[in-house]
Amino acid sequence: MRESCRIVAEVLALVGSRVKPGVFAKELDELAEVWIRSRGGVPAFKGYGHDKKNLFPSSLCISVDDEVVHGIPDGRVLEEGQVVSIDVGVEKGGYFGDGARTFAVGNTSEQKGRLVRVTEESLYKGIAMARLGNHVHDVSSAVQEHVEAAGFSVVRDLVGHGIGKKLHEEPPIPNFGAPGTGIVLKEGMALAIEPMVNTGTYKVQVGADGWTVRTTDGEPSAHFEHTVIVGKEEAEILTT
Ligand code: MG
Repeated sequence: MRESCRIVAEVLALVGSRVKPGVFAKELDELAEVWIRSRGGVPAFKGYGHDKKNLFPSSLCISVDDEVVHGIPDGRVLEEGQVVSIDVGVEKGGYFGDGARTFAVGNTSEQKGRLVRVTEESLYKGIAMARLGNHVHDVSSAVQEHVEAAGFSVVRDLVGHGIGKKLHEEPPIPNFGAPGTGIVLKEGMALAIEPMVNTGTYKVQVGADGWTVRTTDGEPSAHFEHTVIVGKEEAEILTT
């Protein structure tokens, strides 16, 4: 998992450095796929899905502004002022890694900047709770508390997850919940913790392409994710 997760971190650093006005989303996706394969990995999202007629077509999810997650890179061009969430999964040697970050395209509004900062902070609040003996919803409530204190909302319909020999494993890791509930965390559990945070309502809907998840009020959303290993004292972040 360290190997697949290192590739995830490399891709996010590489692609993130290319985010600027005028860049095609598709260019970023191609760059990511070439990098993943050059490192002996396989893009985990490409060809993923339950509906065989509509498998996910690309290596990256690129979700712009009101798109929360699962946006498909296509012919569109990134524009000054947008926030763009980039999510990538990699499989190597039978083990998976998963990570995401939201980047500002050029200069964004103060509100969007604050949304991105609070979302990233909430991820680390959650990770700080991913230690032996805590409950899974201790992670969830730490994320929720930080986000709601800042006046933003956490998405309910999509959640983080265990990860390992499959991209998505038990347990689900919601970004909301009551402390002291959910399964007890054990040392060595691998978790993908991923706050999805909306400026306005927490409500989301899936678009006509069957993938792209958007906020129902059209307000921007941000997404940060790390794959971590539960530790005795603290979690080890693998996608860094
Ligand atoms: Mg994930």
